[in-house]
Parts: sequence; structure tokens; C-alpha cells
Amino acid sequence: MLDLSLTQMAQGLAERKFSSVELTQAFLQRIQIVNPQLNAFITITESQALDAAKAADSQLEKGTATPLTGIPIAHKDLFCTEGVKTSCGSKMLDNFIAPYDAAIVTNLAEAGAVSLGKTNLDEFAMGSSNESSFYGAVKNPWDTQAVAGGSSGGSAAAVAARLVPAATGSDTGGSIRQPAAFCGITGLKPTYGRVSRWGMVAYASSMDQAGPMARSAEDCALMLQHMAGFDARDSTSIEQAVPDYLSQLGNSIQGMTFGLPKEYFAEDLNPQMAERIQAAIKELEKLGAKVKAISLPLTRMAIPAYYVITPAEASSNLSRFDGVRYGYRCEDPKDLEDLYKRSRSEAFGHEVKRRILIGTYALSEGFYDAYYNKAQQIRRLLAEDFQKAFQQVDLIVAPTTPNPAFDLGSKITDPIQMYLEDIYTLGVNLAGLPAISVPAGQINNRPVGLQLIGNHFGESQLLNAAHQFQQVTDHHLQKPALV
Ligand code: GLN
Repeated sequence: MLDLSLTQMAQGLAERKFSSVELTQAFLQRIQIVNPQLNAFITITESQALDAAKAADSQLEKGTATPLTGIPIAHKDLFCTEGVKTSCGSKMLDNFIAPYDAAIVTNLAEAGAVSLGKTNLDEFAMGSSNESSFYGAVKNPWDTQAVAGGSSGGSAAAVAARLVPAATGSDTGGSIRQPAAFCGITGLKPTYGRVSRWGMVAYASSMDQAGPMARSAEDCALMLQHMAGFDARDSTSIEQAVPDYLSQLGNSIQGMTFGLPKEYFAEDLNPQMAERIQAAIKELEKLGAKVKAISLPLTRMAIPAYYVITPAEASSNLSRFDGVRYGYRCEDPKDLEDLYKRSRSEAFGHEVKRRILIGTYALSEGFYDAYYNKAQQIRRLLAEDFQKAFQQVDLIVAPTTPNPAFDLGSKITDPIQMYLEDIYTLGVNLAGLPAISVPAGQINNRPVGLQLIGNHFGESQLLNAAHQFQQVTDHHLQKPALV
């Protein structure tokens, strides 16, 4: 049961081969056994899950089910969940019970999906390894010496280890795609504005975007179907109809042109990764796709631009955590200033503090033009380069990361090394584009991710191309021997 795709689960439920309560119990049991070794979940909501599963079973009985009804999922712990802790992986929100559900939490619950709990993440989604979480690092189910990736490492590890068949993630600079790549699963970062940000705790609001993480493109399509859509409560939500993603999965990619940006295949790329990615591209060619060399000349500039703009936005977004309105408050403050200072210094971790400092500096008078404005100019030019590329090609194909998952502890004391690992994912967020990471093999038992990048609102095309690839390859079916 644990290995079925979402569609197969829906079929099993519809045909009463098993009930949602049985399915939910099977995953909850697996979580009990395996989660202590992985640390993928921060909160497990067993009794709520069983209640939701019972409700789903009666929907199935009544014939009012959707294809997600009764299917277990999990939410990254930065989506607000009414009555359930929403920690953002931070001591700051360790005691925070959200008073309402995030839009995607509501959407998925209304579709009948059964949430099993909240998954671990880098503190406030800042990180590439899940090691900045207040709740400790997530271990990679393929190799517990390796990081699971970040920031949605808990969701990725949980899906890879069969603790849950699908989960939500958020991607500000790669946080869905990179952990998906490191854990050998499929993860889609939608176009900015496609999925409501309402109730998703903000890191960098101009880039944050929620998306699905699952084992296949088909499963991601089903999840996205229920996550996407206009929401008047998010001012950057786009009023555009949501296509039927599943029905678009049968299209041939014969004759489509895939652009290979030469900067993504340069010296940063691990040679063994390059081999796996080239082999994957051959599969796309066998399916009739054409491949064309392109250039995205500002690729390397994405790192400095991103690591100025996102800390700037974060420094503003995180000012709400002041020890008064939300979360942690220090003991016995002397006065108001002491309360602010100590609450924030005691509750934020190193990486969050580093970014608040960088962001505040970049926005300060005298430095604003030199850093923040410059970074915004680079952002614009980078987005224009992608548009030029999309005049010549339908999709862009690239590695998701330069290397497979690195060892736990190997980069956490060197933030620059950590940031450099994000080189292939950041440009997509700066330009607001959609992209998907799909499994493309392993190197020494550590998975490799192939990234496909689309133009704005190209989710259908991306999911279809990824699905076609998964029809002729079995990388996405490989599973960690585990623990
Ligand atoms: N690794 C990137 C960062 O630390 C991306 C994080 C994200 O997408 N939330 O900012």
C-alpha cells in the first residue's frame, strides 16, 4: 500500500480495496517506526488524521469524493494550521498555534486529503540542508550521513521514505527542487502567483511559492490541481484559470525544443552529475525532443542578487517576531528594549540572525543603492535573459544542483559554500518561473535531480514533459534501502 501512486491509492479507495482509515494507519505506523531515524516530522497529528480519514471514508461512501479524498499528505511546518503548532523550524514559534489554516491547507483539506502532520524545515526556510532547524537536521533516507536538503527537507525525506505519499513544500530559492533532488523524489515550484501565499509564513515575499512534492510528476499534477488558483487574500495571486493538469499528461514531447544553458554545464557541475544529466537528456531526445544550446549569461550573478534581496525582505518580514505579538518572549525583561532584544536574540538561530543583519545592512541609507538596488537590476536582467531563451526553446533542461547531497555537518560552518550549492535553482525564483526536479539516477547511492524550467504558467508543459520522461525511465521508482 505504501508504494502506490496517488492515482492508484484513489482507485483502491474508490474500489473499497482499503479504507482511508486503513491507509492512514499504515502510514502512521510507518512514521512511528522510521521517523525517529530521519527526524522528518516536527508534529504528528494522529488523532486529527484518523478523524479526517473517517470523514473521507464517508465521502467515499456517499460518492462525493475527489481524487484526493482519503489520501494522506503532510505539510511543511510553515503553513499555518488551525489548532496545530506552526513552528517554522524556529524556537521563536515553538509555542505558536496558528488561529487559522493557510489557503493551501484549506484547499487540500476540502479536497479530502488527510494531513498526518507537519514536516521539518530549515529555520524560516533559510537553508539548503535542513541543518538550521531548531528541531535538528533531517537525515537523508538514502544515506543517513547525508543531508536531506533544504529547506523542505522534512517533506522530501518523508516522501522518499514512504512516510507519506505526498507533501507540500515552499520554494524561495530552490527549497522544493533541491531537497526533492537530494532525496530522489519529484518536486514542482510553480510560477510566482499561481498558488496562494495566504497563511504561508513569509521569508522573502517576492519569491516565496508553495508547491507539491511527491514521487512522480503525475502525483504532483494531482496535488497542484488542488493547490493552485486565485486567492483575493494574496495580493500577488494571479487571476487565471487553473488548467486540468492531469488531462495534459498524455501529450507527446515530439518536436519540442529543450534549451541547454551552457552556464549550467560549466565547471561548477560535478562530472558524475553531468553524466547522469546527459543520460537523462538522451532519454528526452529518444522521445523526440530537440536539444539546443543556449546561454543564460548572468547565472552566477543569481547568487549575490538572491542573497541580497531575500535577506532584505526577510529582515522586514521577521520584524513581526518581537516577543510581543507572537511566539517566544524572554524571561523577566527589564524594559521594552530589553524584551525585544533578548526575545529575538534568544529565539532566532545563527542563519536567521545572519540574514537579518545582512538584509538590514543592505537596506540602510547609503548602502541601499549599492546593494539592494543593484541586486534588483540584476534580477531584472536575469529575468530578461530567460525571456530571450524562451523565444528559442519550449523548456530549459539542467541539473537541479551541482552535486548530490553533501555530508551532514560539512557546510554548516561555511555559509558561502552552502549558498554556492544553490546556483542552479535561484535564477528561477528571481524570474518568477516554474520548474520541476525529477529523479535522474544516483551517484554512490545519493540521488541526482534533473531540472526542467518553463515559462510563466508553463506548469502543464513541465508536468507533461516530466511525466513523459518518467514513462520511459524508472529512476522515480527507485527507493532507499532504509534504515
Ligand atoms: N537555500 C536557499 C536559501 O537558503 C533557498 C531556500 C528556500 O527556497 N526557502 O535561501
